[in-house]
Amino acid sequence: MRRATSSIDPGRGWSRTSLAPVLAPVLIALACVTGCGGGGPTAPNPPGTREQCLAGAVFGSPASAPYCLPWASGTAFEVGQAYCSPPGASHHRRYAYDFMMPMDTEVLAARAGIVVELREHWPDDDPQGGHENMVSLRHDDDTISLYIHMRQDGVLVEMGDSVPRGGLLGWSGSSGTSIPHLHFQVCLRSGECSTATREVTLPVSFRNAQGPLDSRGGLAVGTSYTALPCQ
Ligand SMILES: [Zn+2]
Repeated sequence: MRRATSSIDPGRGWSRTSLAPVLAPVLIALACVTGCGGGGPTAPNPPGTREQCLAGAVFGSPASAPYCLPWASGTAFEVGQAYCSPPGASHHRRYAYDFMMPMDTEVLAARAGIVVELREHWPDDDPQGGHENMVSLRHDDDTISLYIHMRQDGVLVEMGDSVPRGGLLGWSGSSGTSIPHLHFQVCLRSGECSTATREVTLPVSFRNAQGPLDSRGGLAVGTSYTALPCQ
């Protein structure tokens, strides 16, 4: 069941776009003719080995990053799994993070974008892979960010919504996994973010993450990061 627009916290200040989802990519592409994508990630990783993943783990300056941590300022969550994890782990060839947030934590948009995919019908007590609730946003440089394991009926945005950075997307959950957490990743293009074998993910930095970064400038496993005000 889709939630009514009126259930969205008006205090977040974002507005619904009248664009049909099918038209949005076309209009975004036209907008990019006049210039967009500045400050975005630039180092994709084609599927390959962990070593190739690590070689591509080039994180830009957090100060110029378009992303903020996807939770409320003043709160902190630990990184349970980071990018390029060892063989057998799910982030083996990906630039993705698992943030260990409990159920019903507010998930905020890390970057402004348009909602291009969402699922929220899977229950939270079903750990089967493929049964993840999720929401994804397309950004002005055509990259896509994914927020996965959302709570059942916990996605508060609708297809085609235009969401600002920091806008409320919904509530974290444990759909498709056994431990409540939020999986976050950014993909180079749509159509390459849906299947593990084809996805091309991007290393991204967060401009408001307070906490020690690893030697490459990424977020470190086992470290908690406090979200500073997203500016
Ligand atoms: Zn994950």
